[in-house]
Amino acid sequence: MINVTKTFLPDQEKYLQYVREIWERGYLTNNGPLLQQLESELKDYLKVDHLYFCGNGTIVLQIAIKALEITGEVITTPFSYCATSNAILWEKCIPVFVDIDKDTFNIDPDLIEASITPATTAILATHVYGNPCDVEKIELIAKKHNLKVVYDAAHAFGVTYKKRSLLSYGDISTCSFHATKVFHTIEGGALISNHPELDEKLSLLRAFGHQGDESYHFAGINGKNSEFHAAMGLCNLPHVPEIIAARKEVFDTYDNQLNWDVLERPVKNKDIEYNYAYYPVVFSSEKVLKDVLEALRVQEIIPRRYFYPSLNTLPFMPGQISCPVSENISERVLCLPLYVGLPLTDVERISAIINSVLAP
Ligand SMILES: *Cc1c(COP(=O)(O)O)cnc(C)c1O
Repeated sequence: MINVTKTFLPDQEKYLQYVREIWERGYLTNNGPLLQQLESELKDYLKVDHLYFCGNGTIVLQIAIKALEITGEVITTPFSYCATSNAILWEKCIPVFVDIDKDTFNIDPDLIEASITPATTAILATHVYGNPCDVEKIELIAKKHNLKVVYDAAHAFGVTYKKRSLLSYGDISTCSFHATKVFHTIEGGALISNHPELDEKLSLLRAFGHQGDESYHFAGINGKNSEFHAAMGLCNLPHVPEIIAARKEVFDTYDNQLNWDVLERPVKNKDIEYNYAYYPVVFSSEKVLKDVLEALRVQEIIPRRYFYPSLNTLPFMPGQISCPVSENISERVLCLPLYVGLPLTDVERISAIINSVLAP
């Protein structure tokens, strides 16, 4: 079976060396030495100054909302994973969906201002498939209306925009290091902030708001991560350049093989160094998408409808705001298998199956 993704695993012996170290120390979690080493190596790799390794890519969204004291209405994108809008709801804020740009699939900055009300306090947008949001326009709008900006950068590990880590934009960016992402720590995530004054708050928020023996500052949460997860990150981080290079080969092969006369795709920003996180293709209709899904399924090839459905249509979302572009694209988009070790002959085979459905 060929799945949409397959987790990269490092040399087992290297991981076991870390595990033996953990056993000798008997120190398993709570800001341990491996976690601190991983944070330091991540800061070097990403060239960011303030980074906190946490439990996953969802709790970091919640911590970001808490840290920036975001309340009321939050402008957000309907074209993301449900973690983005669920975090807003979980923090008792109201997600206000603004439709996406038809070319980039990111939140359309030109539609944001019309949705701002006196209750709006923040913009929470996703860099979809690792392709940057219009960070300059969003920053201008945020300054003008005194809004906080949080980026869900779960797809953006290793992406640079204008020679700078994409994770360094916004008041806070969050990342996911889940096993399905380009860089993973099994489960994991990170907060990246541009504000030194938030350092203490962020490190406290992820650890109950509790410090030392008797200092209880505020109601934090358990957003910590363990030495075992940090060890997986330390094993994987040195492989990131080769992981990205291997993904690029798969990516380029699809580029060359697929029939672009009858297929669409999001437009990639020209000022980026990309991480080749996803391979989305957009069909002419949902009917064609379903035909392609079936043709692939019988060959045991399982792509993913990602993102589907458009988050504004989820039954528990307040307001039921209409976002026609996002709803339309989410019905027609499929992410194709893309991972280290996927044979290029399989990429050619997958492309041929898709082409044959599109132009029989
Ligand atoms: C994966 C993902 C998340 C959630 O990350 P977890 O680490 O699984 O909690 C959030 N947002 C987006 C856009 C994602 O792709």
